[in-house]
Amino acid sequence: MNALNRNALKVAEWWIMREDGSIQCKLCPRECIIRENGFPGACGVRVRLNDKFYLAIYGKTSGWALDPIEKKPLFHFYPGSCAFSIGTIGCNLFCIFCQNWIISQARIKPKTLKFPLHLEDLSPERAVELARRNGCSVIAYTYNEPIVWYEYMLDTAKLAKQNGLKNAMITNGYINEDPIRELAKYIDAANVDLKGDENFYSRLSGAPKAPEAVMRAIEILVESGVHAEITILIIPGWNDKEEFFRRVARWVMDKFGPEKVPVHLSRFYPNYMMRAVPPTPVRTIEKARKILMEEGLKYVYIGNVPGHPAEHTYCPNCGKPVIKRNGFWITDWKLTDDNRCSYCGYKINIIGKYKQEDSWLRFHMLF
Ligand code: SF4
Ligand SMILES: [Zn+2]
Repeated sequence: MNALNRNALKVAEWWIMREDGSIQCKLCPRECIIRENGFPGACGVRVRLNDKFYLAIYGKTSGWALDPIEKKPLFHFYPGSCAFSIGTIGCNLFCIFCQNWIISQARIKPKTLKFPLHLEDLSPERAVELARRNGCSVIAYTYNEPIVWYEYMLDTAKLAKQNGLKNAMITNGYINEDPIRELAKYIDAANVDLKGDENFYSRLSGAPKAPEAVMRAIEILVESGVHAEITILIIPGWNDKEEFFRRVARWVMDKFGPEKVPVHLSRFYPNYMMRAVPPTPVRTIEKARKILMEEGLKYVYIGNVPGHPAEHTYCPNCGKPVIKRNGFWITDWKLTDDNRCSYCGYKINIIGKYKQEDSWLRFHMLF
């Protein structure tokens, strides 16, 4: 193993040594069993070295950027804020439609632990410093699945919290109960993908025990006081049936009620190994939104269709648009200082105050 990668090793949490000498990871529902020295689990970044289990990319990033929080998407959490966004490599799912597959499906090399692509040093201290220096009040763990770099995310989140920053996790929610409960102490907001039914997870993402595990993770986050939003990427022929949307809506209504957990319905575009499937017809997404709202949900958004009126937040009481958006931009704000509808006074479920932190804009103009 070269010296460069040694500084990226951190003893992992959530694993056991079994009686037969194998190591079992307990972080996500895959619960990989690793017998051979120098080999990673399925996510490709958590590795066995002798009798210990390690995260092998601690403090290493495949890229960081300043993004508007709306891009995550998080529409009800510190609107307008800048999210200092960090990604690494690896994922515990194998979605054949992944938009970020170059980093999510990258794996460290067994035995040598070499990185498959260039990773830059970014310690938790440096991440917090850069976030502050760039005027971001949120750090977002995003781009690839942050669950697989749990220890790096957790340490950064703890430090961010101590420094008055907020933490947001953009995740597939495919994680076991105890680890998500521990993480939830330091995370303020999460956007969780709810991809489809059992058939979808097993055939397109190679994931057993889903969506149950994902739904349970969302429940734990909300029970723990984390602000949660859900994203469903609608793929034609796979998760675009009325029955699926009704089931999701009824579960959200039953567990969280009509306003607590906003839902984003996102348009699919052909990508990675799923290039033969056409983009989702906008009509299909509109129909899904109608179904969710018929079941009682109040905040249902349409994503990846710039300029669509379902990018706006409508007051559940008087029906007027109270936050207008165009893509990631907030173009109109009709809430009072305590986040009530300016027209009728109804309390809108928005966490934090609106603050246009546009340092992300200057950042993107540099490139
Ligand atoms: S986090 Fe990675 S190593 Fe652990 S069980 Fe999940 S896929 Fe396997
Ligand atoms: Zn109103």
